[in-house]
Amino acid sequence: PAGFPDESLVTPSLRQFVEIKRQYPDTLVLYRMGDFYETFFDDAVKANRLIGITLTKRGKTLDEKPIPMAGIPMVSLDQYIARLVRMGESVVIAEQVGQPQKNGSMERKVSRIITPGTLTETSLLPEKADAILLSICAAKRKRSRTGKAADARYGFVWLTLSNGDFRAEEVSAEQFESELARLSPSEILVSDALKDELRESHPDLVVTSMPDWHFDAEHGEKLLKEQFDLDNLDAWGVTGKNEVLAAANALLDYTAETQVDMMPFILPLKLVDESEFIVIDPASRRNLEISSTIRGDRDGLTLFSVLDGCESTMGSRELCRWLNQPLRDRAAAEARHEAIETLIASPDLLDAFVEKLAAMPDIERFSSRIALGTVRPRELASLRDALPAAAALAAHLANRPETLFTELARSLALPEEIHAQLRAALLEEPAVLLRDGDVIASSYNSELAELRALRDETGGFLMQMEVRERDATGIPTLRVQYNKVQGFYIEVSKSYADQVPMHYHRRQTLKNVERFITPELKAFEDKALSAKERTAQLEKTLYEALINTLKPHVAALMRAAHALASLDVLAALAGHAKKRGWVRPQLTARPGINIRAGRHPVVETAIEVYVPNSCRLEDGRRMLVITGPNMGGKSTYMRSVALIVLLAWAGSFVPAEAVQIGPIDRIHTRIGASDDLAHGRSTFMVEMTEAAAILNQATDRSLVLMDEIGRGTSTYDGLSLAAAIAQELVQTTRSFTLFATHYFELTTLAANVREVANVHVSAAQSKRGVVFQHEITEGPASRSYGIDVAKLAGIPSTVIRRAKAFMTSLEKRDAARSAIQPDLFEEGSFLTEASSQLALEEPQPPEEQVETLSPRAESAIALQDRLADLDPTLLSARDAMMLLYELHDAA
Ligand code: ADP
Repeated sequence: PAGFPDESLVTPSLRQFVEIKRQYPDTLVLYRMGDFYETFFDDAVKANRLIGITLTKRGKTLDEKPIPMAGIPMVSLDQYIARLVRMGESVVIAEQVGQPQKNGSMERKVSRIITPGTLTETSLLPEKADAILLSICAAKRKRSRTGKAADARYGFVWLTLSNGDFRAEEVSAEQFESELARLSPSEILVSDALKDELRESHPDLVVTSMPDWHFDAEHGEKLLKEQFDLDNLDAWGVTGKNEVLAAANALLDYTAETQVDMMPFILPLKLVDESEFIVIDPASRRNLEISSTIRGDRDGLTLFSVLDGCESTMGSRELCRWLNQPLRDRAAAEARHEAIETLIASPDLLDAFVEKLAAMPDIERFSSRIALGTVRPRELASLRDALPAAAALAAHLANRPETLFTELARSLALPEEIHAQLRAALLEEPAVLLRDGDVIASSYNSELAELRALRDETGGFLMQMEVRERDATGIPTLRVQYNKVQGFYIEVSKSYADQVPMHYHRRQTLKNVERFITPELKAFEDKALSAKERTAQLEKTLYEALINTLKPHVAALMRAAHALASLDVLAALAGHAKKRGWVRPQLTARPGINIRAGRHPVVETAIEVYVPNSCRLEDGRRMLVITGPNMGGKSTYMRSVALIVLLAWAGSFVPAEAVQIGPIDRIHTRIGASDDLAHGRSTFMVEMTEAAAILNQATDRSLVLMDEIGRGTSTYDGLSLAAAIAQELVQTTRSFTLFATHYFELTTLAANVREVANVHVSAAQSKRGVVFQHEITEGPASRSYGIDVAKLAGIPSTVIRRAKAFMTSLEKRDAARSAIQPDLFEEGSFLTEASSQLALEEPQPPEEQVETLSPRAESAIALQDRLADLDPTLLSARDAMMLLYELHDAA
């Protein structure tokens, strides 16, 4: 690879490094040398830049170029890897294997490949989120007879290595982004051909490429059949789905490569149907701040962070999954509601749950490591300690009438053998690392017990020998000791060194002392050392055997872990609902949304007095046009409706007094204008792109929120677009729509279209200025409070006065003009022009109306036009004064 020399140009010890580097050109290679993991050449420069490890030099290449080197001490490897992986880097670890060769060099072998999507180390994984590896294969584009490219299709296959969840989906070009946002993968696997496109469109994602031949459908089918021991894949419903099979093949190849010799636990492939979940497009996911804030911060205040009272990390991850994929299956969502209702009604049950769950370790992740054989002793010990609590929970749930509880109780039932094995084999508190020994209980194996006894004798033996030798030699300072490097020795201070007997052999000379060994001590040392080695070997064998007896139970453990996580989520949701007075939503078959006194689930926790608001959308009333002052609470209101719908279908209680919600297939929002500078698109372009996607995708079962559409362009452009979009939404897509706007002209829509109603946020004028009541009331707003808001914001009073003067004159101009400008949605207006033309009805020529203008109105218009052409920032105070007098006269 570029930046790395040819093998022939380095010494033998670095030759293997260059060889490995050639196999993994895009991955940082860490190369074990003694107590360090070193890296060289461009990788060293990169490691120095990314994690600040010191850059040094290690000799020169044969063509006399210095070799950059940077190293990580063995003991801090995990810590550095964690940082690299968080930055989206992958790491290859090359370990020393076998004995040194004659020339002293060691052989090295790739032992681990760590990539963001294939992590299984508990310490490296994010606690509250899944690390998903997603493989994408694009269908070869077929051209239809008209020559147009047919709708592109993709095979999505993804795997969560830490719980074995393995899924596939056929995704259309239209769904591509929303599915990507829903899955939020840690790493995406694509063919070389797709790599550049995806990296460019998603610079924030980790994209790994594999040569095209890995995306082989035929081989994928064969591999899946082999791995899962199946005759055909019909039961999974993926036969003939070539993009899925090809993506699966690449994913399994990559997983095998990164896990080297270990076999991960993978569940049977599940084909996901788009209609399983409510579709939420990426912009809406951001806007609604489900599990990360608009700025992409996962630790900020979000729906997830407010609800995450889960006791275990497994529970937190499950909650994140529930919130990010609200269900469409009414029975499944209602089963969750029923369970939460029970928990709220029976505090004892809830308390018992919480108490048991509090001690729950991450069984899900430990189980995946049992399958891989990499589980640590302490992880197994905490699994052992948690199993009784899981059994107790199962007992609580058994025989309960709630369907979900019965189901979870079944998943929680684990074979007693697991606990028995762990209890028998492990020490009460095993060492952190197996190589440190003291993991397996002596009582588990008689040979181990004997070896340990020998070790325990050592101390006694040394003391006895010390007393004996002091007597024999008459040296009072003589000591018999042991250390790791020197082994056993007799230590005598320099002044007595010439008094030692003949059979003492010098072992080491230090500044003040001499160390000796005797044949007797040597014999003991041999015995002790070999016992130590044998103990270590035996413990390793016993530990591996223990893992092997657990492996057949991994699927059951995963099921139990998942059940515990679900219980944890139910308990957290019940706890929150109780604390905040949330209610059980009623899911209906009839389309519509009816919320009585609803609140925003996140905002209500952040402010003292939240004003609840209702919302009714149904056949005959599919759109609410929301007007009212800025800061009045329009966005908060709209978001609260969307979040209540989302929560209800995710299976949670909701912040309201009463709620009925019918089936919903998608939630779309167009809220707030944010420049998408990373993609070089202006606010207006983003706004229109999102609006276009909504118009193309929304159906009569969708919930659409539109906030201030058209704001990013000039007034008449914006108004016209907003009006046309509103009309399309209500008449063609017929979605349930909340349409907030500052264009008062849009309030006339209600008078002309049956499905539209006006509501407004109220504000009151008090002596000290405008007061927002945050209350949604039927009917259009009476006036705008923009200037009042500006005043609240601290705009100088001179500017406020001037603005008021301009507004008065503008309002007068509008009043004058309204005589010539027909109602936006009236028959014959530009919006209904198309339909009226269809009806062969000529729109009235505007000239006729102009004639009806009074001379007074005409002169007013002339003045207003002059005013409109003025640039107030260039106007001197005197000119402004003159103008004001003129205006006053005209009025
Ligand atoms: P708009 O979209 O109309 O400009 P926002 O929805 O952004 O207004 O709300 C403005 C502020 O008013 C927010 O900071 C919020 O805290 C507060 N607010 C909004 N709705 C309510 C409510 N129902 N009760 C109390 N405060 C609210």
